[in-house]
Amino acid sequence: MSKPTHILFLFLIFCSSVFSQQYSSYFGEKACRIDFQLSGNAKSTTATLSKIIQEPFWGGRRLHLTDDMNLGEYRFQVLDSISNALIYAEGFSTLYFEWQSTPEALLVNKSFEQSVQFPYPLKAVKVIIERRLDFDKWEKLIQFGISPDDKLIRKTLPTKVPIKTICKTASPDKAIDIAVIAEGYTVKQRAKFFRDAKKLAENLFTHEPFAKYKSRINVYAIAAASIDTGVSKPQNDNWRNSALGSHYYTFYSDRYLTTPNVFTVHDYAALVPYDAIYILANTKTYGGGGIYNFYTLASADSKRAQTEVTVHEFGHSFAGLADEYFYDNDALDGMYDIKIEPWEPNISSLVKFDTKWKADLPEGIVIPTPLTDENKAKIGVFEGGGYLKKGMYRPFFDCRMRTNTAKGFCPVCEKAVEKRILFLTE
Ligand SMILES: [Zn+2]
Repeated sequence: MSKPTHILFLFLIFCSSVFSQQYSSYFGEKACRIDFQLSGNAKSTTATLSKIIQEPFWGGRRLHLTDDMNLGEYRFQVLDSISNALIYAEGFSTLYFEWQSTPEALLVNKSFEQSVQFPYPLKAVKVIIERRLDFDKWEKLIQFGISPDDKLIRKTLPTKVPIKTICKTASPDKAIDIAVIAEGYTVKQRAKFFRDAKKLAENLFTHEPFAKYKSRINVYAIAAASIDTGVSKPQNDNWRNSALGSHYYTFYSDRYLTTPNVFTVHDYAALVPYDAIYILANTKTYGGGGIYNFYTLASADSKRAQTEVTVHEFGHSFAGLADEYFYDNDALDGMYDIKIEPWEPNISSLVKFDTKWKADLPEGIVIPTPLTDENKAKIGVFEGGGYLKKGMYRPFFDCRMRTNTAKGFCPVCEKAVEKRILFLTE
């Protein structure tokens, strides 16, 4: 070992011990979950607290505790209540935010369930939940205190179901732990669920950078049991009694599959250490959904593009990637304001392009980049993305976040996923 390498090595050991000290002076081994409601309409939002739960495992990070990567429409911050020091921060997005851009949100107030977790605090903390107004502007929605010895913090989970470890190669603090939850599988279909969960993990590992970091990804299958098989399809007047209450036709969009029962989803996920939730729906119907730090929900048996949908939706929920596609009259075409830089790493309104893939552009590339054959294999600034034909730009001609026929993630998306993996597992 040469001297500079030696010094660097000692410095890294020093840093890692400072960081782990930081963790152990504020947090224990379990997790603290906050269940709350986001309510409002197209123009206004409020947050109200539902309950606090102590979960048995903390599967998340132990480093970079106060960095939220500036991802998500929302964020929450945990502060030590005596010193007021920031001790944990994380971003997330919500189904509620998407609903706000639908016509219904102009007519009625609704509320949506949301859950967030952080490592269980050793001392009293203050929690602040904020909504993003702009790329770097936030509005406080709610602030409250949590005392770790509060007798009303729930300490049991309402669910106990069989669990199978699909793959486990690293300890939870050094791994991305994915909780795969069964939806629309009856007790008799349990063996099928475990096979489907294994297939899901295999699908994920067909894509980079998940393949490269396979040794840092743990997958657990949680066999929630449903009374009926399959999930609801309201467009066909077909409602099923399933464990998580998932349905297609979210916001009247045929293939948008979600569940409003977020607290129940977390009650199942909490049976294992988890960084990410993947709900596997026992249906052949094409469709799914994925929202950053919320959940991914996708069909287990769609004949159409099974692997591609699995990875696309996980790209949303795991790394906060945006859709790079745009259709005429898209149900979500009001979701982005082109006067604001979106937070997602793979689209840009060019308001703050410096924060995006500008440094990765090849020399001499024209902005906006014309769609010539020559440019199709280059990183560029291509108009169209985030459901918008005009005013929003994407980094590559094609990508897993744009079509099912793309070879994989574009280089910008791949880098963003890798950054998130390293952030959570270092
Ligand atoms: Zn991409």
